Amino acid sequence: MSKKVVIVGGVAGGASTAARLRRNDETVQIVMFEKGEYISFANCGLPYYIGETIQNRADLLVQTPEAMKARFNIDVRVKSEVLSINKEAKTIQVIDHATGQKYDETYDVLVLSPGSVPLKPPIPGIDSPNIFSLWNIPDTDAIKGYVDNLKPRRAAVIGGGFIGLEMAENLYERGIDVTLVEMADQVMAPIDYEMATQVHNHMRQKGVQLYLKDGVKSFDYGHGVTTIELQSGKKIEVDMVILSIGIRPQSELAKAGGLNVNERGGIVVDEYLKTSDPNIYAIGDAIEVVDFMGGFKTMIPLAAPANKQGRICANNICGDQETYDGTQGTSIAKVFDLTVASTGLSEKTLKRLGKAMGTDYQVSIIHAKSHAGYYPGAIPMAIKLIFEPVTGKVLGSQIVGYDGVDKRIDVIATALRFGATVKNLMDLELAYAPPYSSAKDPVNMVAFTAENIMKGKTGVAHYFEVPTIDKTKTILVDVRDAIEREMGFIEGSVNIPLNDLRVRMGELDPTKEIILYCAIGLRGYIGARMLKQHGYGNVRNLSGGYTTYSHVFCGSENEEDGSNDKGSCCQIPAENFEDSGDVVDRSLKATGNVVKVNACGLQCPGPIMQVHKALEVMENGDVLEITATDPGFATDIKMWCKKTGHTLLASGKADKNFYANIMKGTVEQKLQQTIHSIPNNKTMVVFSDDLDKAIASLIIANGAVSMGRKVTMFYTFWGLNIIKKHEKVNAPKDLMAKMFSMMLPRGTKKLKLSQMNMMGMGPLMIRKLMRDKNVDSLETLLDMALKNGVNMIACNMSMDLMGVHESELIEGVSMGGVATYLGEAEDADVNLFI
Ligand code: FAD
Repeated sequence: MSKKVVIVGGVAGGASTAARLRRNDETVQIVMFEKGEYISFANCGLPYYIGETIQNRADLLVQTPEAMKARFNIDVRVKSEVLSINKEAKTIQVIDHATGQKYDETYDVLVLSPGSVPLKPPIPGIDSPNIFSLWNIPDTDAIKGYVDNLKPRRAAVIGGGFIGLEMAENLYERGIDVTLVEMADQVMAPIDYEMATQVHNHMRQKGVQLYLKDGVKSFDYGHGVTTIELQSGKKIEVDMVILSIGIRPQSELAKAGGLNVNERGGIVVDEYLKTSDPNIYAIGDAIEVVDFMGGFKTMIPLAAPANKQGRICANNICGDQETYDGTQGTSIAKVFDLTVASTGLSEKTLKRLGKAMGTDYQVSIIHAKSHAGYYPGAIPMAIKLIFEPVTGKVLGSQIVGYDGVDKRIDVIATALRFGATVKNLMDLELAYAPPYSSAKDPVNMVAFTAENIMKGKTGVAHYFEVPTIDKTKTILVDVRDAIEREMGFIEGSVNIPLNDLRVRMGELDPTKEIILYCAIGLRGYIGARMLKQHGYGNVRNLSGGYTTYSHVFCGSENEEDGSNDKGSCCQIPAENFEDSGDVVDRSLKATGNVVKVNACGLQCPGPIMQVHKALEVMENGDVLEITATDPGFATDIKMWCKKTGHTLLASGKADKNFYANIMKGTVEQKLQQTIHSIPNNKTMVVFSDDLDKAIASLIIANGAVSMGRKVTMFYTFWGLNIIKKHEKVNAPKDLMAKMFSMMLPRGTKKLKLSQMNMMGMGPLMIRKLMRDKNVDSLETLLDMALKNGVNMIACNMSMDLMGVHESELIEGVSMGGVATYLGEAEDADVNLFI
C-alpha cells in the first residue's frame, strides 16, 4: 500500500513539502489541511497590496486547491483545522469549519508546518475596531478595506520589525500620516544600532514620527479615533493602528500531542527535521533551528528557510537522509527608499553571547559606491563587516543603502555558508563593468579594510568611543577639507586636511594617541598610515568616518523621544537637522539665471565643492540647480547654505538622485526674502451654518486664493454642517450623537437663510437669483475652494460635541484643534469670524 503523508498548514512550508513529495513519488497519498480559506498565498507581498504597489489581489494567491489537485494530485482541504494528534494511533482529529463536522484521519507520516501568529498582549483597548494585525489574506482584506473606505488620515504602527516598517511605508504610500512606536532604541532588530540610525533618519526625513524606547500603555477608542497612551505618558491620536510587535509559534497542537517544544514554544526537531516522534516532521516558523554561524539554538521565522525545510523534509520522507544545517538569518527589506539587509551574527548578538570586541570579534564599516563613480547613478551604501580578528573568519554583515545592497548581502551570505574568511572576500572575483560595480567591488573593499585592521596597518576606533575620549590623552584630527567642516564636525577635533598633514604633522604631540577621521574612513586611513610611518606609534582611524558618527549623533533623532544618546555631538546646532520636507521655502522665486550642475557619482565633499565653485562665478539672485547621488548631500546642503548665507529654495530626492536649488544669496535677496515673509494669509472661523453666510465666506475665500493668498477656514459648531456630505453615512454614534444628527442639516443643500427663510422659500429664491445672475452656487463655490487649495479644518472639539463623525465630512477637509487654527492665524493679516 502506498504511504500516506498528512500535512498541517498549507502555505510556505506545507505547500513546498507537498509539491516536492509529489515530484519525488507519484504513489504517495498526500493530504494537506489548512484551517484558513487560502493556501500558498504570498505572505511577503501582503503589505504591498495594501500600499497598492501590487494592484491585483489575485496575484497574491500563488496556488489554489484545484490547481494543486490538477498538477500534483494533492488532496487539499481548506477551512479544515487539525485539532489534535494521537501519535500512538497515528491519527489526527480535524474539524471542517464549513460544515462544523469533526472527523479522524490516519497518517503514516505527519508534517507540521503551522507557522506562527502575531502577538496580542493584554493591553487595555487592544480589541478596538480600528486596531489590526497583518498575517494572512483576511487580515489584508480588513486593513485594505478600512483604508479604502474610511480613508484614515493618521495611522500608528506599533513595532519596528520588518512587517511594521513595510506597513509604515505602504500606509504612507496611501497618503496616510504614519507614526511608528518601538519599545527598543532602534527599529530592525537584526541590525546594529549605528546601522539602524540611518533608517531612523531616513524615515524621519520622509515625515514618519518615530517614538523609540517607548511602549504602548493603553488604547482608548471613540468615534473612529484611537488615542494611544505610551509608557512615557505621551498621547497619540490616530484613525487606525497596525500592531506588529512580534510573533509566537503556533505549536499548541504539537505540545498537546506530546511532542517536545522549547521554552518559547518552538517545536524541537533533529537535523533531519524530525520531531521527538519518529513519524512526525516539523518545519517553518514553528520550529527551533540551529543558528548557522553561532551554533546555538534559536528561532528565525523567514520564508526562505521554511521553503527549504519543506524540500528537505519531503526528500527525507522519501528515504533520503538530508540534514538541515541551520539558519543564518539572511534578510532584506525595503524601507521607503532604503534597502536594509543583514546576514549572520550581529554585534548585538555577539555581545549577548559574552563575546568581546577586539579579541573575539572586530568590526569594519565602509561607505562604498554601488558602482563606478564616473558612471551615472552611483550611490553609496554603508557596509558593516564583523569578523574574527585573528582567524579572519567572517561572522556577519549588515548593509544599508539604495542600490546594489541585495547583490552584496547575497555575496557575503554565500561566503558565510562556505565559512569564508576576510582573505576569501578579498579574493572574490566579482563581475565588473562600470554600470554594475567597481573594479574593487564594495565586498572586496570592506574585506580590504578588515585586513588592514587585522594586520595592524592602523588601529581602528569606533563611533561609540568618541564621546568618552579623554582629550588630555588623545587628539582627534579631522583630515577633511575646511569646507566640509561647515557641514559639521566632531567637537574638540582639530582640522588638518589630509593634503596638509605631511607638512603640518609637527603640530601633533607624538606622545599622545591620535584618532583621525574623514568623511567615510578612507582619507583617515591614508592619514593614519602617513603618521605611523613617520613614527607616531598610537594612531587609530574612525571606522565609517564622520558619516557613521553623524548618523548616530547628529541625525534627526531627538532627545524628546529618548532615541538618541547625544553624549558628544557634532558642532552643528540641532535645529539645522529639522528641515525634512522637500521644498524648503515655496514662496521664494528665482530672480536670475539658472545654472545646472550634475554632481552625481561624487562623494562628499565633491558635491559641496561643486556648489562652492559654481556659486563663485554666479551673480546674486542666480539659481544653482544641482543633482547628486551622495545621500548625505541633502542634509549637508541645508547646513552649508545656512552657514554661508545662500538661500536654499528646494532640496529633496527625485528618482535616484538628490537635488538642491540654491539661490546665490546677498543682503538684497535676504531683504526680498523678508518682504516675502510678511504675513498675508487669510483665516476665517466659520461658526454659522446660515446659507447666506456660507456663500459670503466662500466668495471671500475663493477671491483670496485667486490673489495667491493662503486661506484657512476653521469650521466649528454649526459651521460643521456646511462641510458635511449630503448623503447619510452610517457612522458609529451614541444616542445623543444620533439625536443631534437627526436635528442638524446635512450638507450645503439643507442650509437655511439667516433672515427671510420663509419656511424654505428664501433659500430657493436666493439659489434661483444666483443662477440668474451667473453667480456660482454654494456647492460650486465649495468645490472650487477645495480645488484651489483652501485649507479647510473641521474643529475636533466641536465634532465631538455635536456628534459629527469624520466619515460624514466631505473629502478634502482635515481635522484640527484650536492650536492648528491659531498657528495659521498668526501668519494671516485678515482674520474673520462668520
Ligand atoms: P505559514 O506560511 O504561516 O503557514 C502556516 C499555515 O498553517 C497557516 O496558513 C495556518 O493557517 C495553518 N495552520 C496553523 N495551524 C493549523 C492547524 N491546526 N490546522 C490547519 N492549518 C493550520 N519572510 C521573509 O523571509 N521575507 C519577507 O519579506 C517576509 N514578509 C512577510 C510579510 C508578512 C506580512 C508576513 C505575515 C510574513 C512575512 N514573512 C517574510 C514571513 C514568512 O511568510 C514566514 O516565515 C513563512 O510563511 C513561514 O512558513 P510556515 O509554513 O512556517 O508558516
